[in-house]
Amino acid sequence: MGIYQRLIPKQSCVLCSEQSDYCVCTQCESSFSTSEHRCLSCATKLNSDLQFCGECLSHSPYFSKTYALYDYAEYCSQLIKQFKFDHQLCVGDYFAHRLFDLYTKIVRESGEYDAIIPLPLSTQRIKDRGYNQTHELLRVIKNKTNATIDTNCAERIKATQALSSLSLEQRKNEIKNAFSVKPVTYKRVLLVDDVMTTGSSMNEISKTMLKNTDIETCDVMVVARA
Ligand SMILES: [Zn+2]
Ligand SMILES: [Zn+2]
Repeated sequence: MGIYQRLIPKQSCVLCSEQSDYCVCTQCESSFSTSEHRCLSCATKLNSDLQFCGECLSHSPYFSKTYALYDYAEYCSQLIKQFKFDHQLCVGDYFAHRLFDLYTKIVRESGEYDAIIPLPLSTQRIKDRGYNQTHELLRVIKNKTNATIDTNCAERIKATQALSSLSLEQRKNEIKNAFSVKPVTYKRVLLVDDVMTTGSSMNEISKTMLKNTDIETCDVMVVARA
């Protein structure tokens, strides 16, 4: 252990209060559920060795691949709520380190992206929260890699109501034309968000990008897949 590391005061785990390097201890982390079998396209849990879920087979999404760290369940969903709604930035820092690990693995296996693009929030939502949480999640990737993180090219132009209370069909309608994307020269981008539920937002922004810009491939990276 280096001097620098020893000088960092230990924190207590926000879940179990044990001393820990991050505000989530390795013990609690090991209890997060993460599915071994996921749809290659949307990362939804699959119970068998199939490569794609029925939904993606019948309506192929505009994005190509989705990478998820965890299932949106139990402790993990509790942590994401603490981060988003109680402003627990140490939780964001913890997830930012895990996303950095995932990102380096993706790049090692599939190559660099021209840009990483966080899913934009509406200006009202940023005002309510005080910050865009996805930017916090990208902090470690920003500091440790040369990746281009573009927070300006995409904008949410339609304030949507919380999608969580809507049916799949209602979500699709609500999110339609919600994004605008400036002309960019990227070919291959990685879209990032904290949680992917149905994937309606990711699908809509990917559609907008593929139709209106030079972008040819949109992949998705999220902390948790519901
Ligand atoms: Zn713990
Ligand atoms: Zn799928």
